[in-house]
Amino acid sequence: MSTATEQRTFDSVNPATGAVVGTHPLHDAAAVHAAVESAGEAARWWASLGFEGRKRRLLDYKAVLTRNLTRIARVIHEETGKPMDDAVLETVFAISHLDWATRNARKVLGPRRVPTGLMGVNLTATLQYLPLGVVGVIGPWNYPVFTPMGSIGYALAAGNAVVFKPSELTPGVGVLLAELFTESVPERKVFQVVTGLGETGAALAGHPGIGKIAFTGSTATAKRVMAACAANLTPLVAECGGKDALIVDADADIPAAADAALWGAMSNAGQTCVGVERIYVVERAYDDFMRELGERARALRSGEDYGPITMPAQTDIIRRHVEDALARGGKAVVGGAESVRPPYVDPVVLTDVPEDSSAVREETFGPTITVRKVATLEEALEKANAVAYGLGGTIFSGSPRRAMELARAMLSGMTAINSVISFVGVPALPFGGVGDSGFGRIHGADGLREFTRPKAISRQRFPLPGMKITSFTRSPAEMERLVKLVTFLHGRRKSPLS
Ligand code: NDP
Repeated sequence: MSTATEQRTFDSVNPATGAVVGTHPLHDAAAVHAAVESAGEAARWWASLGFEGRKRRLLDYKAVLTRNLTRIARVIHEETGKPMDDAVLETVFAISHLDWATRNARKVLGPRRVPTGLMGVNLTATLQYLPLGVVGVIGPWNYPVFTPMGSIGYALAAGNAVVFKPSELTPGVGVLLAELFTESVPERKVFQVVTGLGETGAALAGHPGIGKIAFTGSTATAKRVMAACAANLTPLVAECGGKDALIVDADADIPAAADAALWGAMSNAGQTCVGVERIYVVERAYDDFMRELGERARALRSGEDYGPITMPAQTDIIRRHVEDALARGGKAVVGGAESVRPPYVDPVVLTDVPEDSSAVREETFGPTITVRKVATLEEALEKANAVAYGLGGTIFSGSPRRAMELARAMLSGMTAINSVISFVGVPALPFGGVGDSGFGRIHGADGLREFTRPKAISRQRFPLPGMKITSFTRSPAEMERLVKLVTFLHGRRKSPLS
C-alpha cells in the first residue's frame, strides 16, 4: 500500500511473480457515498428504460465483453496467477450467464396475471418484480469475473444500478468490467466500481442508499457484512465458502470419477468455493479409485496445470490442515506437508483423516483432498452432510435413480451427477448454499428475483353482490354467506389414511 500526495492508493500484485499489476485508489466512505448517490440517480433512469431498453444495451455489453475476452482473461491471469485458459473459461461462463439473465428478465420478472381463486372471482391479480435501486456487490478474488458477474449481470438485467467493490487482490479486472460497460451504456453511471480494502466494502454494506448487498466471500466476512447491513435493514445475499463432498458409488465409472475429482479438487489450485474437498468412496470401488486418482494427481504440476495460491495467508491454512491431518493419523498418498512451498502448493491426497479434523471440517481452499473408504452410500451421505457448510457436491454412480436420490438428500444448494461443477454452466440453475455457505441465490430465475421486490396488485372488476365483507356496512347475512362458502370450499375432511 502506498500513500500518494492527493489520493491514497494500493497495489494489486501478481502472486506468481510479485510484480505490481496495477495501482488503484483506496476509496473511502465519502467516495463510496458519492458512487452510491450517483448510482441512485442512474438506477431511476435504468429502470425507466424497461426490459427492452436494457436488453439492447446489455446484449451489446455482452458483445463488448466477448470481443475483449483475451484482454479480460489477461488481467485475471495477472492478478490471480491462474492459467490463461482458466481465466478465459471463467469469462466465457460469465458471458453466458449475462446472456441468459438479459434474455430472460422480462419473462421472469415482467407483469403477469395470477389466478385469484374463487374468493377473488371479481378481481384481477397482477404480479411483477421491481428493481431495488442500487445493488452493492462485494466480490472475491478466486473467480474475479465469473462470481461477481453472477450478481452484477442479474442485478442489472433486473433493472438495478450496481456499485461493485472487487477484492483488493483483483481490483483491476473489476475496473475493466465497469470501463467496458460504459462503451455500451455511456449515458449514466449504471455500473460503477469502488476499489479498496475491507473498509471500502464495509462502507458500501453500511450505506443507507443500498437496496441490497450481494456478498461473495468467506463466512466470517459475511457475518461482518450482515452486521453492517443490519443498521439499515439492508437485505443481503451471502455466497460463502464450502466443503464440498464427492461420493463414488460401487458401480461408478471409476476413471471418470477420478478425473472429475482431481479437476474439482485441484483446478484453480483448489481455490474454488464449489471445489471438491472431501471424497467418500464405497468399499468395492476404493482401491481402483485410489489407483486412478493417485496416478493422475502425481502427473499434475503446480505452476503449469494450475497457478499459485493467490492470497499469501492461505498457504498457512493449507499447511495447518495437512500437518494436522498427518499428525492425527492421516496418510499422504500423494504429496505431504512439504508440498506447501509458497506461492505454490503441489497436489496433496490424504486418506484416513479423522472426520473431526480441520482438513475435513474447515474450508482448506488449496489443491488438497481427503479420501475416505465407506461401507455404504448411506454412510457416505451421512458423512458428506456432517459439516457446517452446504454449497455444492458431486455424485458418481452407475445408477441414475440412486444418484438422483442421493443428490436430493445431499445437504447442499447444488449437486452434480457424473460430472463435476456442471451446474455452474447451466444459467437456468440457481446457485447458492445452506448453513455456513450462506443464503439467497444468484443465477437462474431465482437469481433474477433475488435483486427485485415482488409487487402484488389486485384490481376489483365489479363488486360481488351480497358479499360486501370488507366494509363497516356489511350485514350478518353477508357474513353467514361467507361462512357457508368457506365451509363448502374448505370444510370437507379427508381421511388421513386414504
Ligand atoms: P473475503 O471474505 O476475505 O472477502 C470477500 C470480499 O469482502 C472482498 O472484496 C473483501 O475485500 C471484502 N471485505 C472484507 N472485509 C469486509 C468488511 N468488513 N465489510 C465488507 N466487505 C469486506 O473472501 P475472499 O476474497 O478471501 O474469497 C474467498 C472466499 O469466498 C472463500 O471462502 C470462498 O469459498 C468464497 N467464495 C464463495 C463463492 C460462492 O459463490 N459461494 C464463490 C467464490 C468464493 P478485500 O479483499 O479488500 O479485503
